[in-house]
Amino acid sequence: MLSLMQLPQVLTIHQVPKVFHEDSIISGYRHPHSSATDCILSLFQLTNETLNIWTHFLPTWYFLWKLLTVVLIQSAWQDAFTWPLLVLLVSCCVYPLASSCAHTFSTMSARARHICFFFDYGALSFYSLGSAIVYHAYVFPDRWVNSWFHQYYIPIAVLNTIISTILSCYSRLGLPFLQCNHDTVKRFPECQSPKFSKGLRVVAFAYPYLFDSIPLFYRVFLCVGDGCTDNDANILHYYHICLALLTGFLFATHLPERLAPGSFDYIGHSHQLFHVCSILGTHFQVKAMEQDMVLRRSWLTLNSIPITFTNSVGPALLCVVISFTVIIIFSLPLLSAPACTDKKHKTSPKKASERL
Ligand SMILES: [Zn+2]
Repeated sequence: MLSLMQLPQVLTIHQVPKVFHEDSIISGYRHPHSSATDCILSLFQLTNETLNIWTHFLPTWYFLWKLLTVVLIQSAWQDAFTWPLLVLLVSCCVYPLASSCAHTFSTMSARARHICFFFDYGALSFYSLGSAIVYHAYVFPDRWVNSWFHQYYIPIAVLNTIISTILSCYSRLGLPFLQCNHDTVKRFPECQSPKFSKGLRVVAFAYPYLFDSIPLFYRVFLCVGDGCTDNDANILHYYHICLALLTGFLFATHLPERLAPGSFDYIGHSHQLFHVCSILGTHFQVKAMEQDMVLRRSWLTLNSIPITFTNSVGPALLCVVISFTVIIIFSLPLLSAPACTDKKHKTSPKKASERL
């Protein structure tokens, strides 16, 4: 059936513009002006993006199922104590979905690629805020509950999330309107200094994660004596932390393909492993949260800051609105600039497969 549909031809790195290049990936590129249909068809064709798409698309449904379980079976909206978990689960659905959509449609054009990944970065920042909201509610060790740090933790996490979205978008394109214009393809920080761009993006994602994890790291690695909250959830926290560190390592190093460029183009390159580790890490994170919720509920209800709209759903909605605004601001110059870079490669509105 699929063979009858004439799947688009895949290209090598030399046949696509630099903005589409992936470090140490030589082949398996889709046409840089694929139609939306070609992009969707590519889900069923082996390209260097196919597993990137599926490794986040399938887990989206898993987390959606978890979210519906909590909402429908546990009637979570009536119980404020579970709202932080709901926020985390929503963010766990949003970030893999945004990522799989970004990987699917990123080859429609250079500008589509940037806009797709702006949304991907915004969704990752939202997930980091979702993590902060659950940590604030369920993870802080007993001795830190109600401390100064506990009270100001969420406002700082919101600020970090906004900075993270801005930094990660900046790492692709520079400042909107000031540094990107019709010459946009020559002005990408990503093309001019890819190492700086990559480093900036690693910092943009790592520093909110590290800040959000301060209470968790303290609880599981440093705290000794009373008030350390040493319970059965800790082992799940360890699994999550190990996988999160591995995720960051894969993203930053581009291993294993950097050791053998071209050998992992379709299966086994770092971005696929990065997706798998991030999803497994998120799975253990959710499990750990569920454990902490059950084990600590009575103590936290008596001793901790009450969970309300302003320290759970409110900051999440605020983050969505601000991140969306940031993404629009970064996308506007791409949408309003003349399509010179796109036109260079666009020959006709036919399907990419036919053009090739
Ligand atoms: Zn990805």
